[in-house]
Amino acid sequence: MLRLCDAATPVPRRGFLRQATHLAAATALPRWAWSQTRLRHDPFGLGVASGDPTPDGVVLWTRLLPEDPLQALSPQTVHWELADDPGFRRIVRRGQASAEPHWGHSVHVELTGLAPDRWYHYRFWHGDAVSTPGRTRTAPADDAMPAAVRIAFASCQRWEHGHYAAWRHVAADHPDLVLFLGDYLYEYASPKDSSGLARTHPLRHASTLADFRDRYALYKSDPQLQAAHASCPWAVVWDDHEVQNDYAGALGRGDPTHFLALRSAAWQAFYENMPLRASSLEASGFHSLQLYRRLRWGRLAHLHLLDSRQYRSRQACRPSDSSSAPAVRPQDCGALSEAQRSLLGPAQEHWLGAGLAADARPGATVWTVLAQQTLFSPRRYPSGVVSSDSWDGYPAARSRLLQAIAGHAPRNTVLLGGDIHQNYVCQVRAAGAPPDTASPGAVIASEFCGTSLTSRSGSTQAQVDAIVRQNPHVLLARCEQRGYGLADLTPQRWTTHLRVLDDPLQEDSSARTLARFVVEEGRPGPVLDGAESQNR
Ligand code: FE
Ligand code: CA
Repeated sequence: MLRLCDAATPVPRRGFLRQATHLAAATALPRWAWSQTRLRHDPFGLGVASGDPTPDGVVLWTRLLPEDPLQALSPQTVHWELADDPGFRRIVRRGQASAEPHWGHSVHVELTGLAPDRWYHYRFWHGDAVSTPGRTRTAPADDAMPAAVRIAFASCQRWEHGHYAAWRHVAADHPDLVLFLGDYLYEYASPKDSSGLARTHPLRHASTLADFRDRYALYKSDPQLQAAHASCPWAVVWDDHEVQNDYAGALGRGDPTHFLALRSAAWQAFYENMPLRASSLEASGFHSLQLYRRLRWGRLAHLHLLDSRQYRSRQACRPSDSSSAPAVRPQDCGALSEAQRSLLGPAQEHWLGAGLAADARPGATVWTVLAQQTLFSPRRYPSGVVSSDSWDGYPAARSRLLQAIAGHAPRNTVLLGGDIHQNYVCQVRAAGAPPDTASPGAVIASEFCGTSLTSRSGSTQAQVDAIVRQNPHVLLARCEQRGYGLADLTPQRWTTHLRVLDDPLQEDSSARTLARFVVEEGRPGPVLDGAESQNR
């Protein structure tokens, strides 16, 4: 997250630090859990998850918490079962997997041969311990036209900045799929001044594999996050904080060799803790992780999940040892507009172009979804600067993608993003279209950049309002709410509900819909459909 406005974040409430000692004991972190006296050790204290559904399968995930140091050093056998019913009377599949110490005792079960468009129930066993049950589903057959799909999208869940009430609301909304678009965790130690925070943690700034494993264990100890993982399959991509703020490909802070070792450790921990397929792994280790991929929901939606962190060019005009990417003034930063600079890298750009072309074939898909990390549309600040870490920092790459989208019309393209910790709803305009006219053909797609689940924005609404006045393609921009997006897709219409919390510092916060936008099939661009305030 690039802080373009350094105004102090308002602190809504003071004295909110909950009992840190209570939290530390409840987080079930392996290294100190061994020294705790426990009534009963729960090897499934990090919950269960599933992900990346296809018409005939899905990935089941868990990660065992070893009971003692001896267990921690040896492989552990985990049994799993998949059933048609929540009572596990009609078992569809059973099997076992080995939770290996060198994989952090994680388990990734890749199911195949299941029926399309079906919900299933799953659970894991270890010894006499059984996990909480999870619910998951397969995607519809590739040639099916489902009547609807509901997709939740979320990003940026810094532990200290809020409780995870939003995840309880996501589960209650019963999505078919959750897209997590980056910043699943933050690498920082908790701030020394804990005033105004929802909670703190005792972990140091993460830089080793053990650090990142502990950080995932901390985040995954949260019951509301666990409930959302257990409620439906997820498809996850990452952004920067899973490794280091504002890193770019192989370039991070400090000594390059040390940074690459840190990145490999962080990527390994990411794989261990996410419901990803083994095919995302490179045989030679964690020098790369294949995260960009496609999911299909029959002929209703094709989802292109993008990785804008691993292959990107270094941010333009960024000083060699700066800890973050600066905001830049385009006329003072010639490198910004260099044609060869890329956010996705040449191979992923090519892959995406081919995917967009395939989606444009008649009958291929109604909706083309680009699930990526950050704000795609331009955001010109009144001061004349732009972010160098988002697509504004890669204008030539953005133009190439706009041309790929426009070149294959007609298509209903919707971009989803996160990272900026603000809700932005934008008309995506063709490359070269004048920014302030409504000429036909100027709008070629829709963008919903979702606010953070918990992480603060660092802006004030007055600053955001001033930006909107400079950017007429921005239909809504709000920085003060935390939450998630909910998208209802049908063959005729896309509806996005911007779901926001009343108080992210409260574990049991209610949620409401800030605004609702629709995109009609065949008519690019979001249209405000109403603002409501349904508390619950
Ligand atoms: Fe973030
Ligand atoms: Ca980020």
